[in-house]
Parts: sequence; structure tokens; C-alpha cells
Amino acid sequence: MGLMSGLEKFGIKADQMDMEKLYEKGSGTKPQQQAPTPKPAQELTEADFLYDKTIECPVCQKPFPIRAVKTSKLRRLPPDADLRPHFSYIDTLKYEVYSCPYCGYTAMTRYFEHISSMQRKLILQEVSSKFMEEDHIMQPLESYYSYDMAIDRYKLSLFNTVVKKGQTSEKAYNCLKIAWLCRSKCEELLAEGETEDSASVQEARKEERTFYEQAYEGFVKAMASEMYPICGMDQNTMDILIAEMAFGLGKYDVASRYVSGILVSQTANRSMKDKAYNLKEEIVKVIKKQG
Ligand SMILES: [Zn+2]
Repeated sequence: MGLMSGLEKFGIKADQMDMEKLYEKGSGTKPQQQAPTPKPAQELTEADFLYDKTIECPVCQKPFPIRAVKTSKLRRLPPDADLRPHFSYIDTLKYEVYSCPYCGYTAMTRYFEHISSMQRKLILQEVSSKFMEEDHIMQPLESYYSYDMAIDRYKLSLFNTVVKKGQTSEKAYNCLKIAWLCRSKCEELLAEGETEDSASVQEARKEERTFYEQAYEGFVKAMASEMYPICGMDQNTMDILIAEMAFGLGKYDVASRYVSGILVSQTANRSMKDKAYNLKEEIVKVIKKQG
């Protein structure tokens, strides 16, 4: 499977970009946009936590509208072990990519404005020249984004990051967020009555795993070559994340090593040590089970 399958609809043929090329220096089926079942009138919905604003594209300088999250209204829920954030009523991850409908420049929100003149040139050459305006972006903004739409936007962001020769950590973080969105998509499908055996769930699980592995590989490289904070995370947070990811991928020796490091760290706080301790218990359990 091409890592970038799904970008054809933007006019971008990214099939030449396979896994091996993602971190080099220097075609899938079209997902269906499904409208989730409407909720009872008075209940809050994802759209209640969104508003429209206009931002300017740093590549083509045109203003365009985006859906943004009303952060003051958010109510945080406990995150997943690997730090995937959760909020009541809304999955904010879906809205953390800006995509210019005129030139195709797309990036995660924290990186969007930070683009050098060299990177701008690369985007104009490699993205804008091929970019076709996509209906669902040019139309009035959706009241909220489906998971398929959000995943496509992140894939376009990842493609842009490769084109602009972005940092390894930016690519890894992009992959992690795609993996998290695939996980959320599975949860939504299961809530709608699908089972683990159904093709749509299995496909999303497979995609989650693929991008999770890419994210892991990228973060390991970034930790060896970049300065902290990496993607806004300090070293202890990054160590917890990588330990949890290694555990999720069955790399128990790596997970143990990071856990031990956090447990003896002078700078890790109580909650980090608790997390590390819990993970240690999980690792012991799995290894015992394996005999
Ligand atoms: Zn633009």
C-alpha cells in the first residue's frame, strides 16, 4: 500500500513516495464521506465547538476560511496511554491541519506559518503546480470533518512536509496523528455497529499500524538528531511516548529501557513516574504470558 494513497483526489500522484523514502534526507480507494447519524436537537455536537475564521496562506498569500476549535469551551478527558488527547463531544485532532484551497500548501497548525523562502519555492514547484482544487475544500466549510476527510488532510500535510524537506520530527508527528485518527475512526465504526472483523475496521487498523510504525521510526531518529523540545514535548514526555509506542508495537525491550530511564530520572515528575510504573507492570504481564 502506498503511504500516501488517497491524495489522487487532490491531483497529486504521490505513489512514488514509499515507506523507505519518508525519512530520506534532505493508490488507494477513495474514502467515502459519510454523514454520521444526526443527534437529538438539544444535545451538544462537535459543530457546537467550532467556529469559522480566516487565515492567510504564507505560500500564495490568499486569505481562506478554516474551521477552528473554540478552545475555551473544551472539556478535557483522560488521554490514551500514548498521550492521544480526548475531549467531550469533539475530536480536536481533526482540526489541527490548515490546508490552502488555492495552492495546496497544507501543514499542521503549529507549523503552518513557519515556512522559509526555500520551502515556499519547493511547495510552489512540487505541490501547487499539481494541486487541483478539491470540491469539499472549496465548498462552504463542512459543519464538521469526518475522519476520512481529516485523514486525507493529514496525508496532504505529510506530503507537503516531505516536499518542503521538513524536520524528521514533523513527519513523525504527522504520522502519529494519522495513526490516532485511524484509531478514532475504528472507535466510531464500532460505535456504529461494525465489528472488529468487518473490512472497514480491519482496513483502518492496518492503516493505524502502518502510520504508527512510521511515527515510531521517525521519533527515534528525531530524538537522536534534534534538540528538545521536540514537537513541543520535553525529553521526559518524549520518553514516555516512545516507551508506550514501543510497547504497542511489541518492542518490549525498548519499552523497558525507556521505562527504567524515567523511573530513575531526576527531572520526571510524579505523574510521569506513575505512568512509567504502570507501563512496567503491563510489560511484566505480557512477558509472563509469553512464558
Ligand atoms: Zn496558498
